[in-house]
Amino acid sequence: MSAKLIDGKAIAARIRDEIRDDVRRLREETGITPGLTAVLVGDDPASLSYVRSKRKACLEIGMNSDVLELPAHTTQQELEAVVDRLNADRAVHGILIQLPLPNQIQEAPILERIDPRKDVDGFHPVNVGKLALGMETFVPCTPAGVVELLMRSGIDPSGKLAVIVGRSNIVGRPLAALLSRKGKGGDATVVICHSRTKDLAAETRRADILVAAMGKPGTIRADMVKPGAVVVDVGVNRVEDASSPKGYRLVGDVDFERVREVASAITPVPGGVGPMTIAMLLANTLKAARLQASVK
Ligand code: NDP
Repeated sequence: MSAKLIDGKAIAARIRDEIRDDVRRLREETGITPGLTAVLVGDDPASLSYVRSKRKACLEIGMNSDVLELPAHTTQQELEAVVDRLNADRAVHGILIQLPLPNQIQEAPILERIDPRKDVDGFHPVNVGKLALGMETFVPCTPAGVVELLMRSGIDPSGKLAVIVGRSNIVGRPLAALLSRKGKGGDATVVICHSRTKDLAAETRRADILVAAMGKPGTIRADMVKPGAVVVDVGVNRVEDASSPKGYRLVGDVDFERVREVASAITPVPGGVGPMTIAMLLANTLKAARLQASVK
């Protein structure tokens, strides 16, 4: 058996087209153009490439977007002042602080300072709390993208056993909240695994839907997957590859070539969850603009 490939790139492109139409309609009806400002502190090349691709995605669908590139020695107070300024700027509907921040800056007070109505990453404690309570809120982009990817591929999590490997605040935990909540895209029975899980393979082998979000290349082997399971690979890892012009290539947390022989459906890396994360960021920015303009 060879698994069906879940094409995140194609699904994300369709979502971007839908959002492009909504952006145009919002502008025609209210004169408002949704705007996202990303803040990058320091010059980490991977972070720079992420924020630039987010900006490009915004511009392509008719949103406004800025990237504020701040020096690596920026202080806590300076960054807080930037957040305050963006909170007060009516043309900025979404604020994104690219993580990780340099060591001299404490992350939590910065994320808490963002106006929750502009928190398009869904990391503010108010939005995290709302998600936990099953209330309408900004859902972190990667977990929202995973659920959207499943639903648009005809895979309804309802009643399934979903095993998530990874418990970060960015992926694992919010995904568990989404998949286990009552209603559309949820209603799964959820197990969260992490580095202290006693017998990881025993847990993953039970999964109808297996999500790998560890940041450990190739950790999910074929013998850890139940035949017919759906496998979603969130991991993005650089591994050395002399044959590639960049000297490296991107791989997921799943041993793709072998697992695809066991699974019924699988997401590739790249081209799976990654493009969905950006599509969900655009959706959250549109939502933020509507919220701030009090448009349904
Ligand atoms: P973190 O490092 O914050 O969390 C990793 C989690 O995996 C932790 O909970 C850790 O356990 C667990 N873990 C690590 N090794 C093992 C293991 N051998 N067995 C079981 N559990 C393990 O990573 P993130 O959640 O931020 O990201 C995870 C991956 O997803 C990364 O590769 C990242 O690049 C990628 N990513 C991709 C995105 C996309 O858009 N495609 C977006 C965000 C992330 P413990 O808590 O015990 O340490």
